[in-house]
Amino acid sequence: MIIDIHRHLVAKEWYSEKFWKGYARMIYLIVSRRGLPFSVESVQTKIFPKYFDTTGENHLEQMEKAGIDKTVVFLFDTGLLIGEPEVLIEDQNKILFNASKKHPDKIIPFAHIDPRRPGAIAFVKKCVEEWGAKGLKLHPSAGFNPEEAETLNLIEAIADYRIPVITHTGPSVVPTSSRYCDPIYLDKMLLRFPEVNIIAAHMAYGYRQQLCSFGWQRPNLYTEISMSQDMAKRDYPQFARIIREAVDAFGPERVLFGTDSPFSWGIISEKNFVAAIKELATKAPDDAKFTESEIEMLLGLNAKKLLNI
Ligand SMILES: [Zn+2]
Repeated sequence: MIIDIHRHLVAKEWYSEKFWKGYARMIYLIVSRRGLPFSVESVQTKIFPKYFDTTGENHLEQMEKAGIDKTVVFLFDTGLLIGEPEVLIEDQNKILFNASKKHPDKIIPFAHIDPRRPGAIAFVKKCVEEWGAKGLKLHPSAGFNPEEAETLNLIEAIADYRIPVITHTGPSVVPTSSRYCDPIYLDKMLLRFPEVNIIAAHMAYGYRQQLCSFGWQRPNLYTEISMSQDMAKRDYPQFARIIREAVDAFGPERVLFGTDSPFSWGIISEKNFVAAIKELATKAPDDAKFTESEIEMLLGLNAKKLLNI
């Protein structure tokens, strides 16, 4: 079974104009470096609309092609930092939970709201108790410090549900903040709530070594490999080595598969990413070998256990 632990539903109206403009400038730098014929404006008119899907139908199509059986989905609440979008975050969550209701065997919904918002705790409890949230997503790149009371109180309030928490780690996209995305900011939470499993997303990008250096010392800390697609495409031996490094640091049972779709669709297809992971059993270099069982755990067995499904 293949389970994706990191995926977003996205709509234009779910982010402010300022977000899309800042993000377009960043994507423009990436695509223009690759010699692709885009302007900042055409990134907004030609690339971003491909991400928009509030029902999950586009996602299900990509998943089908890639052989991904189930996916976790959540949102990205940037309103307090960058300006409120047209659709309130509570209403975005409602739409997301409705999409999962239509595809309960495929879409696993996580609650997501900035912990600093008034009523955040009550809202997350409602998402779990009434709407069936199977986890919580945190995004400190909205500018909050996960060591402070708002986040810790939220985690305390959901600790008894025994659901996992996934949190962004590593430098974050323009125009969001990287200030509190170093994985060390998770340490207080990890120690205070040993019964809550916390997934540090993206192997923390540039903070990968910091993350790996304490991964083995925190049994409730997990990581996932979304956004390593670029490395899989550019430098396959290095891709194998960074995954191997995470598996060695955390143990094979605490590293998970994730895509960060749709934000990764421009890099490689979900199908090719899954294929690149499966090929680690045969094509990884000698210093980064994988067993078939490690790959099965990474692709789905670990997430199945963590999500209790
Ligand atoms: Zn993401």
